[in-house]
Amino acid sequence: MNRIAAAFAWWLRVTLPAHLSFATRQDRDRKRKAHLLSIAVLAAFALGLPLLITNVLLNDWLMVLVLIIFELVHISAGILNRLGRVTLGSSVYIVGYLSVCTLSLSIPQALNGVTPLWGWIEFVLPCIFAGLFLPAWAPMLFAATDSLLITAILLLEPANLAVFNTLPNLERIPFLVYIYVMMLAVGIICTTHAYTLERTAIEADRAAELELTNRALEDAHADLAAAYARVEEMATHDPITGLLNHRSLTEQLLMISDRALNTHETLAVVFTDLDHFKHVNDTWGHTIGDEVLRHLAELLRRNVRQQDLVARYGGEEFVLVLYDHDHDRARQTAERICTQVAANPYILPDGSLIPLTVSIGVAIIPDDVHSWERALIIADSAMYTAKHNGRNQVRMANELDEVA
Ligand code: GH3
Ligand code: MG
Ligand code: MG
Repeated sequence: MNRIAAAFAWWLRVTLPAHLSFATRQDRDRKRKAHLLSIAVLAAFALGLPLLITNVLLNDWLMVLVLIIFELVHISAGILNRLGRVTLGSSVYIVGYLSVCTLSLSIPQALNGVTPLWGWIEFVLPCIFAGLFLPAWAPMLFAATDSLLITAILLLEPANLAVFNTLPNLERIPFLVYIYVMMLAVGIICTTHAYTLERTAIEADRAAELELTNRALEDAHADLAAAYARVEEMATHDPITGLLNHRSLTEQLLMISDRALNTHETLAVVFTDLDHFKHVNDTWGHTIGDEVLRHLAELLRRNVRQQDLVARYGGEEFVLVLYDHDHDRARQTAERICTQVAANPYILPDGSLIPLTVSIGVAIIPDDVHSWERALIIADSAMYTAKHNGRNQVRMANELDEVA
């Protein structure tokens, strides 16, 4: 079985055009026909060989000549197919086949009682082949040509056809009419079939194209969605720490503070600044400075709840927005953060430590101020008070003199 498959694959490799493009629908149509022609040529050639050998054995040299022409027709069609001339190759195949059949029907000694039966098949086959390889109207052309050929064979050499000869004169016309009707029927069926086949191929092609386009669109859509998500992430988050950026914080604060004022919920705005960060950069370089910022961001995240906001406000300044926090609770959380930062120095690759502390200022909405902008300003002031008082500490805005 494998050997047959391999032989068939070899045959197709040898007989199909070397370069079969798939670019257009016409290309694909040509490829389909080239494939079919390659198989048809092989089948017909294989059928002709035993006939040829039989006639050689019977010493019927006229038939041998006809059959050699028959095989040459198939070889020519195969070569033309290989050269990419599919339409010409199939035309040679069909016309050659028809000519050889007509020729063989005209050889008196090749005829016997069953010849009209064979003849019938031989005239029908070109119509079918034409429907497979040529444009849809071709079978009608062959049906008409066949009718003429049959008429010529019967009328010009009626002695050749035993059946026709046995018919009384009166029945010869109805017999011819019968042949014409049958050929017309064959022509119509083959043309309809060819037309339907062409339409089906076009529709299948269109469906495949649509599917491809659809898939490309889906891919593009997914790429776009991913790119949009990336842009969104870049627009709203700080690239070093992954925390919300300044713009995103202020946008969210606007919404959250409005809502808090309506629902009388207390919000804590916690302004946090790393102490002596410049010294870290100056001593260990900016790369380690960035790592320290990441380390601090992680500490801050870990010390608040999931729903609270943590943002990098700028440089080494971070702002936390804690929901449902009054002065006491906010102070507790801020103190905890102070302690945690001091207790978790940054560990350098060589194991040495960079001690870290933060100064924190806290303002409460609506207890201290009613707007988020003011909350940021006075929390910042409270943070500066913490700096002036020696750093590593928390200052509440309501304890400052200048709070309005
Ligand atoms: P203070 O205790 O008064 O806050 O002192 P400080 O050194 O922390 O504050 P200062 O404002 O003098 O210095 C802040 C430094 O933070 C200066 C700047 O180079 C550094 N910085 C700002 N953004 C980045 C950053 O993204 N990466 C790194 N490595 N350093 C940054
Ligand atoms: Mg600082
Ligand atoms: Mg600062």
